[in-house]
Amino acid sequence: MVPVAVGAVLLGLLVAPLLRGLVAHFAVPEGEPWCAACPFCGRAVRLLPPTGRCPGCRERLGAGAWTVEAVAAAVALAVAYAADGAQTAALAWAGALGVVLGFVDGRVRRLPHRLNLALVAGVAVLLTVAALAEGRPGVLLRCLLVALTVGALLELAVWARALGPGDSPLGLALGGLLGWYGWWVAIGGLVAAVVLAGLWGTLRAAALLVRRRPWRGLEVPVGPFLLLGALTAVLAR
Ligand SMILES: [Zn+2]
Repeated sequence: MVPVAVGAVLLGLLVAPLLRGLVAHFAVPEGEPWCAACPFCGRAVRLLPPTGRCPGCRERLGAGAWTVEAVAAAVALAVAYAADGAQTAALAWAGALGVVLGFVDGRVRRLPHRLNLALVAGVAVLLTVAALAEGRPGVLLRCLLVALTVGALLELAVWARALGPGDSPLGLALGGLLGWYGWWVAIGGLVAAVVLAGLWGTLRAAALLVRRRPWRGLEVPVGPFLLLGALTAVLAR
């Protein structure tokens, strides 16, 4: 188990510069063009070092130093721990894109459509391949039903303006992923997301109160908690 864990952490650190580049690329406010080049020196932003500083001008772009690396390594470790079949590829894909989506939502409170589309399409293809490889086409139907149920539930919350527009496609992808393990794991993922977001909101409210900052609503980004809830449910199943 130790070599697998070390391998997973190394793999997480290996893809982190790419994930960090994607975070810098997509973490722009709604309506602004994607950040394809460093705004300070014009150098193309693709891979970024753990310091988060542009290799050209040393200005900081995107997420804080070593944050993406730490989360990517932890997620890779969790995926390696949860791996037990052909669906592991879908789990790894969701883990990698989930790190990017989580950081982007945390920074600019949005889940870009392109990232969600890549997540939904990748999970759909990889789960289909996994189901056919394991000779269990029936499980695909459950994945689809859970995905549509979770997606529709979150879409209702989007209509009620309780969630942002990117949260329902994220729910669709995570629903499909959790549907592989069963309805209860999917329900567990949603419950875990609500509990974790509630805890975070309470802590933030307490911190604002202690520092006597003005109350402007909690403004908790939901994406990271949906992702964290799904990961918790997969690990605890
Ligand atoms: Zn630069």
